[in-house]
Amino acid sequence: MGILEARIQPLPARRTPLHEVEIGAVLAEDIIASEAVPTFDASTMDGYAVIAADGKMPRRMLGERQAGHTDGRHLAPGECLRIMTGAPLPCGANAVIPVEFTREDQGWMYSDLEPHVGLNIRPAGSDVASGQTVLPIDSALGAAEIGLLAALGVSNPAIYPAPRVAILTTGDELAPQGQVLQPGQIRDSNSYVLAAAIRGAGAQARRVARIADTRAALRAALLEAVQDADLVISTGGVSMGTHDLVKPVLEELGTVHFGRVAVKPGLPLTFATVSGTPVIGLPGNPVSTLVGFEMEIRPVLRAMAHRRARWRPERQVRLAHSIRHEEARLEFQRAHIELIEGTWWARATGSQASSRLLSLVGANALLRIPRGTGDLPEGASVTAVLIDSPEQDVAP
Ligand code: AMP
Ligand code: MG
Repeated sequence: MGILEARIQPLPARRTPLHEVEIGAVLAEDIIASEAVPTFDASTMDGYAVIAADGKMPRRMLGERQAGHTDGRHLAPGECLRIMTGAPLPCGANAVIPVEFTREDQGWMYSDLEPHVGLNIRPAGSDVASGQTVLPIDSALGAAEIGLLAALGVSNPAIYPAPRVAILTTGDELAPQGQVLQPGQIRDSNSYVLAAAIRGAGAQARRVARIADTRAALRAALLEAVQDADLVISTGGVSMGTHDLVKPVLEELGTVHFGRVAVKPGLPLTFATVSGTPVIGLPGNPVSTLVGFEMEIRPVLRAMAHRRARWRPERQVRLAHSIRHEEARLEFQRAHIELIEGTWWARATGSQASSRLLSLVGANALLRIPRGTGDLPEGASVTAVLIDSPEQDVAP
């Protein structure tokens, strides 16, 4: 389990309009059908509603009924009604002869098909019976489940909402998109990295603010962000520089629970609470930001939304080449793994500099190199966290 999971609470349930429910959202209530689907016996074919016992005899045609229409009409022996798929059966009818097996002439219908009772009829309650529990609490909703809620008229289900995450990027050097870089400036990539990763985790990326390295700017942005977010993520300003103000400002505004984690990339992760809202400070380098998000924040966001599938799967892989490891820190190296003749081989994605987003481009795994490991030779076995595989229910 990650270091944050035990400290951040799952969100309370909220009734949500069905058209806003996202794939993967989790139900906070049992869904019990209060009506049957369908509520009436319906034809499953375009054809003729008949009485099966009439066999092959010519039938007198009473008229036509299309889906969505009904009347008090009653079928007597020797009669039939032209009927369309989805239309309610008239009283007395107990079979539908498909139009392909019929001929109509002068108000009479002829067929060589001898229908049996129930032929081409979808009886009331045959899809869902009234009173049936169709989805238990904690079910993850996909397209089919959302459709089922719609079919049952559950237009405002109680679900656990997707966490709202505010993003604050800090740094005097950050330039927005669409602006010519001034000397010393870099473009803000973290806000894009985080917004995409947050959405990919099934959460909502809310506010994005770019903040200068001053206490006043940081204070104001944090105080505003905690008001309507379930989680605030900041980047930059958590190292040891004289302008690394995130930790001191968080100490002023709330409680800092811890301020360092021995992980590479992303050593100086900070976790605090301000006015009851958790705030996570990630370091500024984009790779640190994304690896920190992936390993620590993503499972937390999924836990906040009550999702059971929270953890990326892992597998043992062999190194296609030797790698260097600094013993003092747990390290996540970016790699591409590939199955070759029954063995999974890992190849690091070039320079592992924590500024180099290209080390994550095309990476499908993070190699977990535990603290104290040291350099590893070609062929050594290591654990790979599969960052492009769907999460699973059990922690690896
Ligand atoms: P910091 O953690 O503030 O010391 O920043 C570490 C490094 O990450 C510095 O080289 C910053 O320029 C860079 N950096 C900080 N914020 C961002 C950002 N939003 N996008 C891209 N690089 C950043
Ligand atoms: Mg900075």
